[in-house]
Amino acid sequence: MAADYYALLKVRRDATQDEVKRAYRRLARELHPDVNPDPETQERFKEITQAYEVLSDTDKRRMYDMGVDPFAASTAGAGGQGSSPFGAGFNPLNDLLDQFFGAAGGGATSRGPRSRAQRGRNATIRIELELAECSFGATRELTVDTAVVCPTCSGEGTAPGTHPQTCDICGGRGEVSQVTRSFIGQVMMARVCPGCGGYGTVLVRPCPECDGDGRVRTRRTIKVRIPAGVEDGTHIQLAGEGEVGPGGGPPGDLFLEIVQRPHAIFERQGDDLHCTVTIPMVAAALGATLSVESLDGPADIDIRPGTQSGQVIPLYGQGVRHLNGNGRGDLVIHVTVETPVKLDAEQEKLLRDLAKLRGEEAPPGRFAPGQQGFFSRLRDAFNGR
Ligand SMILES: [Zn+2]
Ligand SMILES: [Zn+2]
Repeated sequence: MAADYYALLKVRRDATQDEVKRAYRRLARELHPDVNPDPETQERFKEITQAYEVLSDTDKRRMYDMGVDPFAASTAGAGGQGSSPFGAGFNPLNDLLDQFFGAAGGGATSRGPRSRAQRGRNATIRIELELAECSFGATRELTVDTAVVCPTCSGEGTAPGTHPQTCDICGGRGEVSQVTRSFIGQVMMARVCPGCGGYGTVLVRPCPECDGDGRVRTRRTIKVRIPAGVEDGTHIQLAGEGEVGPGGGPPGDLFLEIVQRPHAIFERQGDDLHCTVTIPMVAAALGATLSVESLDGPADIDIRPGTQSGQVIPLYGQGVRHLNGNGRGDLVIHVTVETPVKLDAEQEKLLRDLAKLRGEEAPPGRFAPGQQGFFSRLRDAFNGR
């Protein structure tokens, strides 16, 4: 995972030494720890300094151009510390630069023994809810498999009556020093203590119940209140309800991920609900009162005389409750008018008489004024369609 030094310094691959120097100086002025003490800028400053060290030295630059990164061997852990051959938290270049710039930088990578207590992991639980529960809120009892502080050692990880002891190898510092030869000469480097793993202490007699982890697995039940207005994909954070960390560290968070079950009638769009009702042609023409389902139970709606297919009837405030706010969305009813099929002789006669009365008769295949579509057909005819 070699860095692109040319890109870091923002110079072309055929840049002269002078151009490299100027590019570095310009960036260094911007990013110097004295000017910009925040850790991210310091990290960038280290990167460009590393780039400059390679590109300003004709030998190293030639090596680099051939695909050999002079820093690669010593910075293998920079991208992912776990992969470093020297162990976690070990980065010779950073050590070196920390020595150069540490005073000004305020110790961005400060050392010392690391704590056994670490924050626990977050956990996510999916909860399936009906549409009405999403709208009005719900209460659920959840059974979670989680880790809690070990009751035997209270998280310390040691057998009752004993405590962690200072590591003999590092004297509690969590790291040991080592002299290594590098291309810049001999470098004194710190390495994670092999005796204690960097903790500075050892568990001589680990707790028999948790085996030194400071926590035990258990199953517990928690009651959660899901607020009104959640929707599919909503995450609810329950701070501190995740599992306890190693060494009795603080717990992580528990996240509830809401999954909204599809509803048989309603389609949710934001906090509005949409549904379709089909009414007979005669009811659409004459008007009617219709009972429809809503989240609050049956509701009566007025179909006004002359209602057309595709018309919408809004029921304001009958939708889903707004999350973290007052009020509700709307229930939007889409009307479809059903044209009767399979007319018997009497019904057909009635409709023909009606058509005659309304002047809507026409020879087959022709349209007469007053019939739906007449004017659009006429327009099409003019346009030569
Ligand atoms: Zn224990
Ligand atoms: Zn040690």
